[in-house]
Amino acid sequence: MIKKLTQKDLICHLNMPIFEIIGEEADALDRECYVVGGYVRDIFLDRPSKDIDCVTVGSGIELAQKVAKRLGRGAHLSVFRNFGTAQVKFKGMEVEFVGARKESYSHDSRKPVVEDGTLEDDQNRRDLTINDMAICLNKARFGELVDPFNGIDDLEKGLIRTPLNPDITFSDDPLRMLRAIRFACRFEFRIVPDTFEAIARNRERIRIISGERIIDELNKIMLCEKPSIGWILLQRCGLLQIILPELQALAGIETREGRGHKDNFIHTVMVLDNVCRAEREAGKEPNLWLHWAALMHDFGKAKAKAWDDKVGWTFHNHDYLGSRMILPVFRRLKLPLGAEEKFVEKLVLLHMRPINLAEEGITDSAIRRVLFEAGDDIEELMMLCEADITSKIPEKVQRFLKNFKIVRQKMQEIEEKDRIRNWQPPVDGLEIMQRYQLTPCREVGILKDSLKDAILDGECGNNREEALVFLDNKAHEIGIL
Ligand code: ATP
Ligand code: MG
Repeated sequence: MIKKLTQKDLICHLNMPIFEIIGEEADALDRECYVVGGYVRDIFLDRPSKDIDCVTVGSGIELAQKVAKRLGRGAHLSVFRNFGTAQVKFKGMEVEFVGARKESYSHDSRKPVVEDGTLEDDQNRRDLTINDMAICLNKARFGELVDPFNGIDDLEKGLIRTPLNPDITFSDDPLRMLRAIRFACRFEFRIVPDTFEAIARNRERIRIISGERIIDELNKIMLCEKPSIGWILLQRCGLLQIILPELQALAGIETREGRGHKDNFIHTVMVLDNVCRAEREAGKEPNLWLHWAALMHDFGKAKAKAWDDKVGWTFHNHDYLGSRMILPVFRRLKLPLGAEEKFVEKLVLLHMRPINLAEEGITDSAIRRVLFEAGDDIEELMMLCEADITSKIPEKVQRFLKNFKIVRQKMQEIEEKDRIRNWQPPVDGLEIMQRYQLTPCREVGILKDSLKDAILDGECGNNREEALVFLDNKAHEIGIL
């Protein structure tokens, strides 16, 4: 429910001195000036926002300079001449100043021709009616709402709609299609059929948008309370096939001999929502990379899918196959290739381990192994695995959750006892090379891995003396001693 606000109420909302100062400086320049877009929308939604966008009929830079000067020492001004914009930072707030503009696009160019314009021109080039309201800051009209496309009504009804013909709005700047879906997801609003159909029609135009702008929107969808809403809309309008075909490939159900598998796309987005809910319930900040791991955890299923006459559909090895897909997808989506990518790859690779443990028996050595391989990411791995239970059969869910509890308990015991998480074997590769006079070769790897396995399996004590005896025996066995 949105708040019904009169001009008086809006004046109260704009009671910070900065708004009055902006208005006064605009009056001194004899210019119209408005606060617009997201800030106005968020006043009605009663959501706090610190980013303020101001549009003035004339130069935004000039007004910003005057405002910064007036605010004095606490204000910091940045001017972006290329874009014709300027920003003033003051007391934790960021105010962006831009001159009202008119944009005309031609079909074969991504860049519009930009000219100075009126407030009306400026409102015509915006993305959605709910983002298209302005409040006047000039003294004579302070607090007056200018809402030419009835954004208030759409906000009230929870509707996403473009201000002008959606085919033109989306074709001009196809990123707006993603913004429409992002806001539908964030506020749990409905995209009106006309606008949604235009997204489907114009989807191919998304190809002219840079990867950086696209990933920015996808990350914002990922950080919504229920990102599934965004991904399902992307899937329905056909944008998913273009942006992330690996996820689209999981959609659908195949049936053979009366046996169908689950729709792995729907399952995936449910897992993603589950992770988000678990974070909230645990009072944790959203971890964007855990969200991406949830979205990608079953990517390998499209390749791994097979039919077995005895057991039906199988997805053997999909964890490994999926983990091999992460780096190329990160590269293509322009996601960061450092620790974030490694984290997602690791979680995808390990996501079946705790569930297998819970199902097949919880031995100390299997627990030590998962702790060792997950390292500091064990909590995130467990969150993903618990979120992965989307079965509709309550007994099955209860059984899994109970087993996971035991796994967690056992992990804690073993971690306290053996400190496996950041553990390294007591003899390293360098020492192995020196002891057996080896240069880097396959045998060094064999010795190193077998020592690590033996300690994790409890076959060798976790200390130097026993490790060296074990290594000597192994070296004999493989013929280098
Ligand atoms: P957020 O809360 O995510 O900041 P916002 O609506 O403020 O949401 P911004 O990206 O900060 O979004 O943009 C500010 C305003 O600029 C929007 O409300 C909208 O009016 C306009 N806008 C932004 N991007 C576009 C675009 N691609 N096409 C048209 N108008 C846009
Ligand atoms: Mg904003």
